[in-house]
Amino acid sequence: MKKLAERVLNITPSVTFSIDAKAKQMAAQGIKVVNFGVGEPDFDTPAHIAAAGIAAIEAGHTRYTPSSGTEKLRQAICQKLGSENQLSYNPAQIVVSNGAKHSIYNALLALCDPGDEVIVPAPYWVSYPEMVKMASGVPKILDTREEEDFKVRPEELVAAITTRTKALILNSPSNPTGMVYSASELKIIADICVQHQVYVISDEIYEKLIYDGVKHVSMASFGPDIKELTVVVNGMSKAYAMTGWRIGYTASNSALAAAMGSLQSHATSNPNSIAQTASVEALCGSQEAIGAMLQEFARRRLRMVELLNQLPGVSCRMPQGAFYVLANISQLLGVPYGGEVILDDVRLAGVMLDKAHVAVVPGSGFGARNYIRLSYATSMENIEAGVSRIRTYITTPY
Ligand SMILES: *Cc1c(COP(=O)(O)O)cnc(C)c1O
Repeated sequence: MKKLAERVLNITPSVTFSIDAKAKQMAAQGIKVVNFGVGEPDFDTPAHIAAAGIAAIEAGHTRYTPSSGTEKLRQAICQKLGSENQLSYNPAQIVVSNGAKHSIYNALLALCDPGDEVIVPAPYWVSYPEMVKMASGVPKILDTREEEDFKVRPEELVAAITTRTKALILNSPSNPTGMVYSASELKIIADICVQHQVYVISDEIYEKLIYDGVKHVSMASFGPDIKELTVVVNGMSKAYAMTGWRIGYTASNSALAAAMGSLQSHATSNPNSIAQTASVEALCGSQEAIGAMLQEFARRRLRMVELLNQLPGVSCRMPQGAFYVLANISQLLGVPYGGEVILDDVRLAGVMLDKAHVAVVPGSGFGARNYIRLSYATSMENIEAGVSRIRTYITTPY
């Protein structure tokens, strides 16, 4: 049999999905698993948005739409970017896709020639390096430090830029670290990218999930030069608990938007027509649900961080955004407890699932060995129970 393409032989399957699959399998066998592996809000889509989806079906909005999205939705997105992010775009600069993940993939396909380098700061969202490779680019991982809140050092960014560097992928608020870049930190990165003419794929999907009065600033907002180079990526999944609806979007310069629209027209036609109608309601209707969701996440975040930091051998920083905690577990490695000497984060996550029935994601998938990621998009009850199970396991004598 002839072999499969290099493109697929080179990609690593998503660790988040494999842990999740195993946790669900155990749950199906009747084992009560506390799942800290999930990457989506545990809330339902707000009722008024769901109703708009139902109304869209009944009104017959069930046909193909323009490939880059309906005029109505793209106008609503322009309005949102104007009022919330002080960014002026016209609908021709907006491409609506099947989730923000698809938006990022479109951007990479439209930007990368074979061998072009894309700088990906670590810890990174699992899919970034793989999507770069799928687009024939070369991911250049730029390590950061926990004591610097996992933020890119400007001088190290400059040093990572070569003549082949096409883009930087930036994610603030970050999955998996929860860290948020300040305006002044972003401005420095923006200046470097303008100076070296590097595109910025700015993944702002967690923009609204942000705590303690910290402010989200869009990368594109530091003037026309950086705006021209920035692909603002955002979507409905996280802010509106709409992961299954699959709507994300980009705002970019017109040439890039046209290129992405054209790619998409051949690959997937248009994003789901019903979900697009519901997304107009999400953006233009009441924003009340976000506040309630945010309040609940904020409470859980404090409790999760407090409980984790009380565990022997575990420490974590206070995240400022998203709904994840990246916990440092380096002190749990290489020492005996619970019947085994665990040597790495992947094994630790495997054993936590098997023995403590708690699903966490090993940091390796995010380019962060010696860490595990825990999502607090789950009930307070689960948070208490799950961390308590971890405590029991790691304090069980060898
Ligand atoms: C969830 C997530 C996305 C996008 O999700 P979609 O459902 O595809 O819109 C993008 N980036 C990060 C970092 C995420 O965690």
